Amino acid sequence: MAYTPMMQQYLQIKQNYQNYILMFRMGDFYEMFFDDALVASKDLEIALTARDGGGGEKVPMCGVPHHAAQSYIARLIEKGHRVVICEQVEDPRQAKGLVKREVTRIVTPGTVMEGQCLDDKKNNYLVAVLAEDNGCGLAFCDISTGLFWVTQFTGINAYHEMTDELHRLQPAELLLPRSYKCDLPKRLAGIANVLITPIDDDLFTSEAARNAMERQFGDNWLETGIDHLIFGLRAAGVILLYLLDTQKRSLHQINRPRIYNTNQYMKIDAVSRRNLELTGSIKDGMRWGTLIWVLDYSSTAMGGRLLKQWIEQPLLDTVIINKRLDAVEELLNNLILRKQIKEALKQVYDLERLAGRVAYGSANARDLLALRKSFDLLPAIKGLISDVHAKLLVDIIGLLDDMSDINELLHEALVDDPPMQIREGGIFKTGYHPEVDRLRTASRNGKDWLARLESEERQRTGIKSLKVGYNKIFGYYLEVTKANLSQVPDHYIRKQTLVNAERFITNQLKEYEDMIMGAEDRLMQLEFQLFGEIRQKVADELLRMQNAARKLAILDVLVSLAEAAERSNLVRPVVNTDKKIVIRDGRHPVVERVLNAGNFVPNDTYMDENSTFILLTGPNMAGKSTYMRQVALIILMAQLGSFVPATEAEIGLVDYIFTRIGAADDLAGGRSTFMVEMSECRDIVNNATPNSLIIMDEVGRGTSTYDGISIARALVEYIHDIIGARTLFSTHYHELTDLDSLPGVVNCTVSVHEENDEIIFLRKVLPGKVDKSYGIQVARLAGLPEKVLKRAQDVLRRMEIRSGGAGGAVTHHIEKNDMVTTGCKEQCAHCREKLLLGELAKINVMQITPLEAINL
Ligand code: ADP
Repeated sequence: MAYTPMMQQYLQIKQNYQNYILMFRMGDFYEMFFDDALVASKDLEIALTARDGGGGEKVPMCGVPHHAAQSYIARLIEKGHRVVICEQVEDPRQAKGLVKREVTRIVTPGTVMEGQCLDDKKNNYLVAVLAEDNGCGLAFCDISTGLFWVTQFTGINAYHEMTDELHRLQPAELLLPRSYKCDLPKRLAGIANVLITPIDDDLFTSEAARNAMERQFGDNWLETGIDHLIFGLRAAGVILLYLLDTQKRSLHQINRPRIYNTNQYMKIDAVSRRNLELTGSIKDGMRWGTLIWVLDYSSTAMGGRLLKQWIEQPLLDTVIINKRLDAVEELLNNLILRKQIKEALKQVYDLERLAGRVAYGSANARDLLALRKSFDLLPAIKGLISDVHAKLLVDIIGLLDDMSDINELLHEALVDDPPMQIREGGIFKTGYHPEVDRLRTASRNGKDWLARLESEERQRTGIKSLKVGYNKIFGYYLEVTKANLSQVPDHYIRKQTLVNAERFITNQLKEYEDMIMGAEDRLMQLEFQLFGEIRQKVADELLRMQNAARKLAILDVLVSLAEAAERSNLVRPVVNTDKKIVIRDGRHPVVERVLNAGNFVPNDTYMDENSTFILLTGPNMAGKSTYMRQVALIILMAQLGSFVPATEAEIGLVDYIFTRIGAADDLAGGRSTFMVEMSECRDIVNNATPNSLIIMDEVGRGTSTYDGISIARALVEYIHDIIGARTLFSTHYHELTDLDSLPGVVNCTVSVHEENDEIIFLRKVLPGKVDKSYGIQVARLAGLPEKVLKRAQDVLRRMEIRSGGAGGAVTHHIEKNDMVTTGCKEQCAHCREKLLLGELAKINVMQITPLEAINL
């Protein structure tokens, strides 16, 4: 049996969008059919029905009302679907036969404009990458703000660096060549909640990219310089082609791509980004308990987003860092100025995304009003210029465009409370446009006449119950109950008979009706048209709006950093290119805030040319990893232009932060804890430079003690001798403390106080070493049953006796031999035991007498 024509139309369109949910417009609804209906009804929690499609069995179906479509689309996107919107592209009343339908937009996680899908404080990135033997290209775009950046990576670490950059960007959607068989999806798994979209390889060519650039930006796209970036250009081209394909309209809001180089910024590898909890916690990716949670006092959405970018991209240029620090210092000291700026910023809407929506053509009158309200605040901010001194502040405030021309236009045009819908009129002020005024008067006069009609006709006819009413089919009418029909005048024209009443019209009533309806129709049309014009005028100033938004965002971030400095008691660091790290009374900004100030024990750090390596010992729970992370965070804060939690700090620029902290199985990726640990160490030793900072927390824990100590020792030596990076290395193998014989290695320990088998953590990092692990004491603190603890103590004691001292049999073995496998020759407990086992194995129990057995 054949499907109905409409079903056939549906299936034909659906054929090109197999992996999408197709929302098919039918009258006031978007309908979904077949598998789409099964999936969507479940994910949207809406009723699944069925419809006769002509094909025999009923077709599963579900639908959503068109006026609420946005929120349903948003929910589908959130659930990781791609959605295709198919509209009726001709008026059903005029259609001959089947209404024409076309796909008008494709919505994917990386191309959403819908406010519901966007996080105010986070950019929504669409990223395209390509990775080839001699280089990788990466381009990203946030279509809600117009941001468009391109970069590329060459050299042996290209792929690694690109992966790190992807981790920074946390794309919502990633475009990859279809034929691409790389491990990227695996590398991103579990960290970024990213939708991967394969793109045909032939769209990744330079030629396709050049054409796309020219189509979008005209000839002067060459000014961007990206033509010389062979890999970056191709990635950028794919972004444009994908946007054109999904948006199916012009992309005015997209800026020309700008080139950046990740070498301009401090690098933080993917693992460290996670470990240091910069903008998302390890536990659930949320902001609570992260660095941004401590630093974010931003007042605007765009400031919030920019702060996130600053935190994720610390700088390497002392001049720019110090400019930021100067500004933060001035705002910290000048409370009045800070308050004035903050008060103004609080009332500024998300200019960046509003401007994006205006250029995209999806802004409504309320969006323009929000722009107007935001522009209203610009002159006041500009007026503060005479009060500022720091160069960065002078530049931002001095060069801020107050958008007065556009704002004036918006003030002349828009009423103060326009409706959401732009097709229903009510947008423009009286006096803005003469025809609008005339139509409004006509419609109002007509309505006044109608309002008077009822009482006038009652008087004239003497029918007390006469009513004026309105319905969609007959328009305005006069209703008279059956009992009063005899009093109806002759000029009344009968239109409709009800059970108890009759409805009439008069010629005059029809005339007024035409006037009211005609005026209202024309008014709505005209207002819609005028709104389109004014929106376009504003859209033409996109670049100016984006610039103003950017300046306000920077101002907001600086104010936020100043406020954080005040609230968290931070100080200005000295940032230079010496190879020093001097921190007095440093604190971990997050742990301190969680513990409440006063409960956190501050600690010093000193590193320079001659002491590059801190070997940190101390029992579990002493505070080793907190201390090491604190050093990394303080450096990172200084380089992003923030004040730092210490009483004094001098930071010699760090180019790359590496961390190897904690043990997490990568079971999904098929790697054990130890394998993960070793891969991370490999990445560190392969990529670290003399200017990097390395943090290694208890490396070697995931394997046997022998192996662990050997690997840890070898790593310390390699980093110290060959790389020369500033390193903090914690271990509870106190056997490693003899490595202080290396010139750059300094032993430090997090002190504890021991009393009657109990330990008290002092949290103070001091020079020196410990020779005890305190494992059992920590286990007691953790609440292990007393019986287990007692037994553990017995076992430990016996092992210590056997090996002739504290630290355990294994330790003894290693210390004697330095490296594990060679020449102990019966000296240690371990070898004696082995020897004994060998002797026992030689005995044939079936052949010896009981007496021999006893003697043995
Ligand atoms: P380790 O790495 O030595 O096992 P952690 O660094 O994980 O220890 O610290 C354990 C706990 O001790 C942390 O959760 C924190 O609450 C607390 N802590 C660490 N350092 C300090 C400090 N300097 N002041 C106060 N409490 C601290």
